[in-house]
Amino acid sequence: MSALAAARLGFRCHIFTPENNSPASHVAFKTTIANYEDQDALRSFANESDVITYEFENIPIETALFLERLKPIYPSPSILAISQHRGSEKKFATDHGIKVAPYELVTNYTELERAITKLKTPSILKTCRFGYDGKGQEKLSDPNSAKKAWEKLATNDAILEQFVEFEKEISVIIARNNNGALEAYPPVENQHENHILAITLAPAKIEEATAKQALEIARTLAEALDLIGILAIEMFVLTNGQVVMNELAPRPHNSGHWSQDGAVTCQFEQFIRAISGQCLGSTKLVKTTKMVNLIGDAVNDWPKYLSTLNAKVHLYGKAETKPGRKMGHVNFID
Ligand code: AMP
Repeated sequence: MSALAAARLGFRCHIFTPENNSPASHVAFKTTIANYEDQDALRSFANESDVITYEFENIPIETALFLERLKPIYPSPSILAISQHRGSEKKFATDHGIKVAPYELVTNYTELERAITKLKTPSILKTCRFGYDGKGQEKLSDPNSAKKAWEKLATNDAILEQFVEFEKEISVIIARNNNGALEAYPPVENQHENHILAITLAPAKIEEATAKQALEIARTLAEALDLIGILAIEMFVLTNGQVVMNELAPRPHNSGHWSQDGAVTCQFEQFIRAISGQCLGSTKLVKTTKMVNLIGDAVNDWPKYLSTLNAKVHLYGKAETKPGRKMGHVNFID
């Protein structure tokens, strides 16, 4: 989707991926298939590129640092490093006055027991790295569930978070360019099923003061990180209206897909504008939009949505449908 947005602006995208038949390769000018550790391939990729970006957090940080020595890479690898680790992400936020769920870092079972005594249950144990869509996390309903969860996660780099009794989950997507210009999309509301984003409602039905807090968190983070690119911030809204940050992603985000059909500038175009040194586009919402993810076999319903008048269908062209895999989405516009 980023490659398509870039093509509309006249850019040619060169995709670097270890994957055969990747969706981006179907719509890009050129694709290099190589491992992230293949320095020769990385070097020739960089030589042919003017600017490098990524839209997946789990590329090795060494790869990003290697490329940074050859060509500009945005968002900066230092931001990627922070977002790759739940602990450093939360520390960065709290260092800048942003509230997060009370947490403890744990590296062994004794530390986990100590953390449970401190934070109590219910709580959530998560691996600090490589978690997504509920993978690498276990809810602890009572202290007795700790042993099983610890063995299941099989890690020595974890975080225990107090369970937040939130009223809503929201997110804000913000872009910043090399001149320091900032544009944020209105906060949206996210509904998860089995820890996977199922639905996004744009805009979020929240109080104005809550929206203001969320936007302020996004602005604070984008500036503190010296962001060039796009940043998604997932947050919880508590019953008292207070906003607590959950997670960061320095890339286009699933909760921003509504903007393809509901905003003046979609998040993918905004991302490309930000990293290529252009002015940012308007993030104004022009249509109230409901984004529904097509997860696993739900993608088979796409013909039905094609004949729905207010539905815009986006399919990713992934070769194989798997349970829990995001295969596409539909934007229902008002
Ligand atoms: P994450 O991978 O951190 O985004 O977590 C996935 C989902 O699990 C979130 O979107 C929430 O629905 C839920 N979740 C994660 N952390 C917490 C928490 N500390 N308290 C309550 N729910 C949580």
